[in-house]
Amino acid sequence: MRTAVISDVHGNLEALEAVCRDVDRRSVDCWICLGDVVGYGPDPAACLARTRSLAVCTVMGNHDAAAAGIIEATGFNPHARAAVAWTTAQLKEEELEWLRRRPVSLRWEQARIVHADPIDPGGWGYIRSPAAAAATFSGFDESVCFVGHTHSPFVCAHDGTRVREPQHDTGAVVALREGWPYLANVGSVGQPRDGDCRACYAVWDSDAETIQLVRVPYDIERTQQKMTAAGLPAFLVERLALGY
Ligand code: ZN
Repeated sequence: MRTAVISDVHGNLEALEAVCRDVDRRSVDCWICLGDVVGYGPDPAACLARTRSLAVCTVMGNHDAAAAGIIEATGFNPHARAAVAWTTAQLKEEELEWLRRRPVSLRWEQARIVHADPIDPGGWGYIRSPAAAAATFSGFDESVCFVGHTHSPFVCAHDGTRVREPQHDTGAVVALREGWPYLANVGSVGQPRDGDCRACYAVWDSDAETIQLVRVPYDIERTQQKMTAAGLPAFLVERLALGY
């Protein structure tokens, strides 16, 4: 089975549509979503509708939780907080209720899927690097755990003693070694922060036992124009083009 794994769409419809077009060319069987469907971007309702129609399962992200009123946005920076308040006002009660009903962690096929951290999925901690991932391998017993949240993609494994980071460039296929659990951060569709402004997602092939991180260019200027027209913070508009 080939699965498209997306995360952190953040209301960016142009990025999500570009990823859809790319996925269409890759004979993917299904989609899963690691949360933060909304927050930051100008099209929360459209992205939520598209994700609901695409993904067989979606877990909750911290921006989803804040927009839906499950957590306070007090820990967010002022720009993110402003975007959360704007996002809540754009969504209907039924859409907010759908976000509230998302689980923070679930098992899907041979994978654990969470937004942030498998050890404490509702604590919204950040796994920023393979080195920082070492402790998290005790948080799942599936063969692979998919996470998002940091908006910076990487793939790593645990060999029983230490964390290993397979050599791979973006676009390269990582062959999963039998017996090693893997942790894959699939990056962000709608607001990448690793210095590459292109949308990011992953294709997981559970038969071939591979994970591929994919980058897709999209019409950033159009998203920025919509954000400016909506009155969203300039900092959030500008960072899209920087990939940070
Ligand atoms: Zn996010």
